[in-house]
Amino acid sequence: MLKIWPVPVFSDNYVWMLERDGSDRVAVVDPGDAGPVIAALAERGLEVGAVLITHHHRDHVGGLPELIRRFHPPVWGPSAESIQGVDRPLAGGDRISLPGLDLELDVVDLRGHTAGHVGFVGAGCAFVGDTLFAGGCGRVFEGTMEQMHGSLTRLAELPPETMAYCAHEYTLANLRFASAVEPGNGALADRIAAVETARAASQPTVPSTIAYELATNPFLRCGEASVRAAAESHAGRSIPTPAEVFAELRTWKDGWPA
Ligand code: ZN
Ligand code: FE
Repeated sequence: MLKIWPVPVFSDNYVWMLERDGSDRVAVVDPGDAGPVIAALAERGLEVGAVLITHHHRDHVGGLPELIRRFHPPVWGPSAESIQGVDRPLAGGDRISLPGLDLELDVVDLRGHTAGHVGFVGAGCAFVGDTLFAGGCGRVFEGTMEQMHGSLTRLAELPPETMAYCAHEYTLANLRFASAVEPGNGALADRIAAVETARAASQPTVPSTIAYELATNPFLRCGEASVRAAAESHAGRSIPTPAEVFAELRTWKDGWPA
């Protein structure tokens, strides 16, 4: 059985750990910091057998040098970004096989947040980095709004039961924005209540599922009449396509009080 568990680092990052029963080698996704990862592994008698990187931001790669020094794992990451320590460059459409985990993952192009951002999909799981968040999405720093919309659309088209492993705990703030966009969305209101309860108990609100995001995340709902109407009323003009609705929402959220 595959077990996936988070190591929280910094104030709101999650480093995802992939562990297979009977193996002492885990795969680590986006180790922004090495210390907490090494401590969690030592506690369980585990070692790093592979590292996966979604994009070059410091809070996702900062722990790489130390993990490489200690464990010498193969490190997969986007070929379109310059990341010291990545020795297995990859791009959307590639498929990788993780040593010791009996796990194959498809690489998905998730450009938008950064110029080369990738995701990893397999075994009913998607490791989405800073592209999709629970109730929201990453900021568009290096790519275009069109690229980010395309990346989120690729994730939206995964089987609805796919678990989405996001790299940050941003859910509550995201859902507050979502409810400004869709005050009449009942599933969203229910989700806010559930997330408030979870956060009050310091529990993670990720992973999510694609189905839950399709029901409550405005950035995956740009084709819905309610979301389009909200974007149009915020922009004060008509917005004809879902891609443009996405761009308007993303810009709106950039200026939203956190
Ligand atoms: Zn990032
Ligand atoms: Fe990040």
